[in-house]
This record gives sequence, C-alpha cells and structure tokens, in this order.
Amino acid sequence: MTARLIDGKAFAAALRERIAGAVATLNRAHGLQPGLAVVLVGEDPASTIYVRSKGEATHAAGMLSVTERLPADTPEAELLALVGRLNRDPRIHGILVQMPLPPQINANAVIAAIDPAKDVDGFHVENAGRLAVGLPAMVPCTPLGCMMMLRDVLGELRGRSALVIGRSNIVGRPMAQLLVAADCTVTVAHSRTRDLPGECRRAEILVAAVGRPELVRGDWIRPGATVIDVGMNRIPGDQPGKTRLVGDVAFAEARAVAGAITPVPGGVGPMTIACLLANTVTAACRQGGIAVPALA
Ligand code: NAP
Repeated sequence: MTARLIDGKAFAAALRERIAGAVATLNRAHGLQPGLAVVLVGEDPASTIYVRSKGEATHAAGMLSVTERLPADTPEAELLALVGRLNRDPRIHGILVQMPLPPQINANAVIAAIDPAKDVDGFHVENAGRLAVGLPAMVPCTPLGCMMMLRDVLGELRGRSALVIGRSNIVGRPMAQLLVAADCTVTVAHSRTRDLPGECRRAEILVAAVGRPELVRGDWIRPGATVIDVGMNRIPGDQPGKTRLVGDVAFAEARAVAGAITPVPGGVGPMTIACLLANTVTAACRQGGIAVPALA
C-alpha cells in the first residue's frame, strides 16, 4: 500500500482563499476588518521569519496587520504594557506574542495578560480550560489545522482509536482534547510511555508531536492508519554544511503502511498560519457579536 499524501500546502491555500472571502463579506456587510497584532521581542532569526510570514498572510487575506517589534532587552513590564494597549485597541481582534521570549520575560505572565477573547494562539488558561470542558474556545492553531485535515481525509471521526504522541500545551494536549470532543477513543503517549510501538499499532489515527526526528517507524504503524506528523526537526543533510527538515515519523517507511500521511515539510506547517487567520476571523466575529462564518 502507498498512503495517500495529505497536501497541507494545497489545503492551507484553499482555506486562506475561503478566509479572504469571509473577510471581504465581513467588511461589506458589517464594516468589520479583522485585525491581528503580532509582537516580536528580539531578533531571533527563525522568529523573525515566522513573524514576517504571519504579517504577509494577514495582509493578503484583507485583514489589518500590525507588527510590534521590541528590542531583546525589553523589560517584562514594558511588554505587559504593550499587551494592555493592544487589549484595549478596538482595531485589534487578535494578539500573538511570538515565542520564545528572552529570559528576563516570563512567558506565562505575558500569555495571562492577553485578553482571552483576543488570544488567537489559544494558550491562555481560560481558553485551555474552556476547550477542556467543551465550551467555545480559541483553539491552538496547530491542532486546529490537524483536525481540519483529519476530517477532510476521514469524514466522521466518531469511535475511531487515536494516539497522540506528546502532551505539550501547544500541540499534544489540545490535540487530544479536540479528538475526545470528536468522540474518538484517545490515548496520549509521552516520554514515560512503556510500549510506544505497541500503542502506535492500535491507532487508526496517529498524531506525532514529539520533536524527535523519525522516531515513529513504519512497522509501528497500523496498516491503513491516518498519520499526522507535526514534528519539525532539522538534521544534517546529504551535503556538508546543509541541513534538511524531517518529521517525527520515518516518512518513506510509514508511507508504505499508512492509509494517508502528511509530509514534512508541506503537511501540518502551512496549516498553522492559515488557522491563525481563521482564529482571527473567529475572534473578530465573536467580539462584534456577528455569527462566525464556516471556514473549515
Ligand atoms: P515539546 O513541548 O517539546 O513536547 C514534546 C512532547 O513529546 C512531550 O510531551 C514529551 O514527553 C514527548 N516526548 C519526548 N520524547 C519522547 C519519546 N521518546 N517518546 C514519546 N514521547 C516523547 O514539543 P511541542 O512544542 O509539542 O512540539 C513537538 C514537535 O512539533 C516539534 O518538532 C515542533 O517543532 C513541532 N511543531 C510544529 C508545528 C507546526 O506548525 N508544524 C507547531 C508546533 C510544534 P514529556 O511530556 O514526558 O516530556
């Protein structure tokens, strides 16, 4: 068997087109332009690239894009004051503070300072709690994108067995909550799991969010399973001095066994930014008391 490739790039492009359409309608019908503010502290090269692409994608969707750049030695109080100003700014419906933050700043304090209604990353404890108890919440972008792809590939998810490897607050934990909410039977694996290959072999849906290059081998995968590889790991490339990006799943081996699989790159990654835009539209509509358009 050769697994179907889940093309995250194409999926994200189609989602971004629907978002641009929804933004144009909100503008026309309600005079509402969703606005996203992205805050970057310091000049970490990877963060700088992420922030630039988020700004460009926001602008391309017809939304207001504001980027706030602060020097690396910014005191925590100054960042908290900026978050406070963005919380009060009626043009801004979503706030994202790019992680990681410099060591003098407590990331949890910053996340806690963001108005939960504008928390488009879905990291605030209020949103994590709402997701856990099944109330409408801002859902973290990466798991949200994974769910959209799973529903597209599998349709109804009810009753399926799912394994999530990883229990971080950003990916693994919310992913597991979303699968439970979709009536899957969910197992969460982590670094203390005793028999990871055995847990994998039982799963119809396997989501790997670990950060260990090619940890999940082909013979761990249940034949026909749907595999979502969230991992993004840089390893040495074929030529000296070059690196390449691989996931948490040994792709070539897994593709021979799975029913469908996301590649790395080009799978989950592109969906994360598209879902950030979707969350900004959701946040703007909720703040404006307007029905949230169906985007998935
Ligand atoms: P993280 O916070 O480091 O969490 C990793 C999780 O994996 C932890 O729960 C850890 O278990 C578990 N783990 C580590 N080694 C393991 C092993 N040998 N067996 C089983 N579980 C193991 O990472 P994260 O932020 O969730 O990110 C995970 C990966 O996704 C990274 O590669 C990251 O770059 C990628 N990512 C991609 C996107 C995207 O847009 N594509 C977005 C976010 C993250 P413990 O809890 O026991 O320590």
